[in-house]
Order: sequence, then structure tokens, then C-alpha cells
Amino acid sequence: MDIGGLETVVANSAYVAARGSVDGNAAATMRDKKMRAKLKLPHITQCGHLKDTVDQTFDSMCVKQPIGKRLFRQYLEGEEAFKSAAELWKKIEDYATSEEKDRPQKAQKMVNKFFDSASKTFCSFLEEKAVSRVREDHKHSRGDLFKETEQQLLKYLEEKALEAYRGSLFFLRFLQFKWLEGQSVTEEWFMDFRVLGKGGFGEVHACQMKATGKMYANKKLNKKRLKKRNGYEGAIVEKRILVKVHSRFIVTLAYAFQTKLDLCLVMTIMNGGDLRFHVYNVDEKNPGFGEDRACFYTAQIICGLEHLHQHRIIYRDLKPENVLLDDAGHVRISDLGLATELPEGQDKTKGYAGTPGFMAPELLKNEAYDYSVDYFTLGVTLYEMIAAKGPFRSRGEKVENKEVTRRILNDPVSYPETFSSDCKLLCEALMEKDPAKRLGFKNNQCVELKDHPYFNTLNWGRLEAGLMDPPFVPDPKMVYAKDISDVGAFSTIKGVVLDDKDKEFYEDFSSGNIPIPWQEEMVETGVFGELNAWGAKGSTPNDLRY
Ligand code: ADP
Ligand code: MG
Ligand code: MG
Repeated sequence: MDIGGLETVVANSAYVAARGSVDGNAAATMRDKKMRAKLKLPHITQCGHLKDTVDQTFDSMCVKQPIGKRLFRQYLEGEEAFKSAAELWKKIEDYATSEEKDRPQKAQKMVNKFFDSASKTFCSFLEEKAVSRVREDHKHSRGDLFKETEQQLLKYLEEKALEAYRGSLFFLRFLQFKWLEGQSVTEEWFMDFRVLGKGGFGEVHACQMKATGKMYANKKLNKKRLKKRNGYEGAIVEKRILVKVHSRFIVTLAYAFQTKLDLCLVMTIMNGGDLRFHVYNVDEKNPGFGEDRACFYTAQIICGLEHLHQHRIIYRDLKPENVLLDDAGHVRISDLGLATELPEGQDKTKGYAGTPGFMAPELLKNEAYDYSVDYFTLGVTLYEMIAAKGPFRSRGEKVENKEVTRRILNDPVSYPETFSSDCKLLCEALMEKDPAKRLGFKNNQCVELKDHPYFNTLNWGRLEAGLMDPPFVPDPKMVYAKDISDVGAFSTIKGVVLDDKDKEFYEDFSSGNIPIPWQEEMVETGVFGELNAWGAKGSTPNDLRY
């Protein structure tokens, strides 16, 4: 074995060993004790200023933020008046994520316990209409059976409990966590492992948050290379969009910080490699996926696109290479560097962006376009997953971009016999050259697309909740990345000087912890539980005593 090969073996084994720590318990054993000790709640007197600055809207503070929600619930559970509501809230969540076969029985129990005026835990704040609808429907296993109930429950808690919560010790504890969340983060908190891939401005490394043990991917953007190649705008757009979206079908950004040389985006680590690798390189003699597998990935990609489009974001760079697998075999969309946000009140944009062979006709013709360009690229991606070639070039063919563009604008796509008729129909509906006729995002949803016969056997509710078993599970010992020596080095950047204006941009970019993912990490690695200690029953812990 040569030195390069040996280097890869050593780097892989360190990375695979660290990766064994993805679940919370194992992560605790991988922690760096010294760094963990630095994660400490401040005394409450240090948090005074936060009382006025922290976002205290109910939905954000008590529902969306994982730590905020836990503390709010602890408060509710301690108040006689809100105990039943707190329990019903938990039961509703449990119901939505449980298996269909268990749902009717669970629903019946909930009806008896909370909807019956003779019950001790009767929730009298629920409106009669919502209650009777659940009573009528509860034998079906619909995932959203309690949707209306939940809305009323949350409205009730906002009106009746929020104010009192703000006066409680639990809220002070929340402020302590917000203080900790707001502390700046530097490279000292992360340990880098092997390189996973190479981007336009720097390498992406596996890394581990030392204090919690959680693994992430660290995408580095070299400051000088960014400046030389006018990458600032793209970098800040990618970061801004990642902060905005929260979906299990899109990589999540957890931290943004800077080092002397780089801007760093710390994101969900996707250990399973990208779809391009799986289409072509896993079984080279027999490339491409069967329809079941392609269908599963396509459905998950649709959920990711729908989320982006609901947030007015056009992705523009969907292709197998940008769709990554996690340990379980679920996929997420990544690389949002070419994405763009439509301002409120503006429905179309212009501009050449994307990858040759994937871009929609209207974009290539330099016309104004909207979200529908992403459904064209979805069609190309689905086609490639099954055919193991792009729809606009033959296998192994070298064609100029101009010719690919000509084909996209003019030529019909031909389908190998491996395509079922439903799959072919879907590809045709997505690769429709006229965006007005193309299948996609209508009335803020993808209902029509999800109802396509190609997805007949798919349970969208379970898929969206992350409960469907993936058709393929990556090998936990395998490293789905190129050998280190094959990743390729960057040339050095000369003649670029960084000035105060650059520094200002870097400060703006390096906003530190992203609240929801940071709180999720603290909860899932057990750190929240360890820090959230309370005094003996009824007594106020020292750190909350003024
Ligand atoms: P660029 O925008 O510069 O193309 P990417 O975001 O595509 O950079 O990242 C470059 C490469 O790094 C990807 O092709 C992939 O191999 C790897 N990579 C990127 N993000 C992740 C991630 N979250 N998990 C694992 N590998 C990743
Ligand atoms: Mg990329
Ligand atoms: Mg990019």
C-alpha cells in the first residue's frame, strides 16, 4: 500500500470510530471533558438584558425551539390548571408519529381521557366542533386527526399560560440557555476528521463538536479564494437560506463561524455519500436504481423542494450529486449556493444558474422563471437515477454545452425499456418544456405531483415524518467518499489582500450558533438534561436566586 492509501485507511478508521457516536448515549462517551465543562449555565443576574431581547412569541419560544418547548412543558406539568393540556399535547405528538395500526386504539384512549366531560382530565377548552370531528373520525388512522385539536390547544396555552410562564423560574432557566446559546463559537470547539469532499471554495471535512460529541460536516470557504472569485454574495445567500429552512429533507446548518483563513458552515453530516456515487459507482456493472428506490428518493426530494418553495426559495441546482444519504439511507438536498429567494410580491426571477444538462428551457432561453425550474431538474434527476445516464446525452458521450442546450430546447426524451409507464409519464410531466404545463408546485403545495400514479403505493404522511424504512441502508463501516489523495488540492491564492470591509463581511457571516439545531444538539446528546438541574422539591436553585 502506498502512503496515500495508508493515509486514507488511518483517516477512515478515526472517522468511522467517531461516527459510532451519532446517537446521544454513545456521543457522551466521545466527549471532550474539558470542553464539556465549558458549557455552563450563567448565573441569572448575567441574563438580565435577554429579558428584553429574546424572541418571546409563543410559537417560536414555546413550540419551535426544542429547549424552549421542554421548559415550557415542565412549567405546565407543575401547574394543576395546565396538567391535562400538557399531557394531551404530548399524546397528540405521539399519535402523529405512531404506526397506523396502533392509531385507532390510541385515539380511542385519548377521546376517553380528554374529550369526555366526565373524565378527571377533561379538556374543557376544546371547541365542541373539533371534538365531534375527532369522535367521528377516530377509527381511521389519519395522521392529522388531531390537527384542529392541537391548534386549539396551543391557542389556549398562548392565551392562558404564556404570561404566567414568563413569570416563572422555568422562563429564567430558558434565558440562561439563551445566554449559553448566544456565546461565540470558534474552531476550538470542533475537531476535524477526514475530508469528505471538495467544493468550489474549500474542502468539506467530517468534524465533531467536542463538548457534546455530535458529528457534523464542516464546509470551509477559503476567505481569499472567495474574494478572488467574487464568492461573497453566494456564500451569504447559502448561509441565509440554510438558517431559514428547517426540514428533514434539507441539510441543516448548526453553526457559522470563521477562522483566520476560512468561513465555516457546520451542517448535518451525511455519511452515506451522494446519489451520483450510488447510481454509478457502487455497482459499476449494473448502474442505476430500481423503481422502488428511485421512487423513495424522488419523494423525499419533493418534500425538500416543497419546503424550499413554501419559503420562496428556488433551488436551481438539483442533481444526483447534490442529494446526500445519511446513516439510515434517508436523503437530503444539499449545496444551496445557487439558490435564490424571491422577494415578497415578486413571482419570477431571471439569471443563468444551474448545471448543464439539468437546466430548464425557460432558464436557458433567458426568460423570467419561477419554482417550476426545480421540477424540470427533478425530472432529469429521476430519469438519471433509473437510466444511469442523463436524458439529453448518451452514455459516455462528450457533448458541448451548446448542443445539450439545443437538445433540451428542442428534442423529445427517449426512454429505455426499464421505465414503467407511470415513471415515464411522470418524467414527461416534469420535463415538460412549457413551464405553464409542467407538473409541480401549485397553491403553495405539491398535491398534484404527490397524487401522481407513480406514487400510488407511497404513504406520504409516514414519509414526511421520517418513518418509512429506506430501501437501502449504507454500510456503517464503509466510507462513501473518495480516497484522500484523489480529492485533489487547491492552488494557492496569491495577490489577495483582506481589508476592513472584508472583515465586516466575515463578522456578518459568522453569526455563531443557529438556535434550533443548537438546542436539538443539546437535547439529543443529553447535555440539556445535565444542565437543567433543579433544587430539592420547591426550592429555587442557587443560579436562579437573585
Ligand atoms: P460547493 O458548493 O462548493 O460545490 P458542496 O456543498 O457541494 O460545495 O460540498 C462539496 C462536497 O463535499 C460535496 O460534493 C460532498 O461530497 C461533500 N459534502 C458537502 N456537504 C456534505 C455533508 N453535509 N455531509 C457529507 N458530505 C458533504
Ligand atoms: Mg457542490
Ligand atoms: Mg455550491
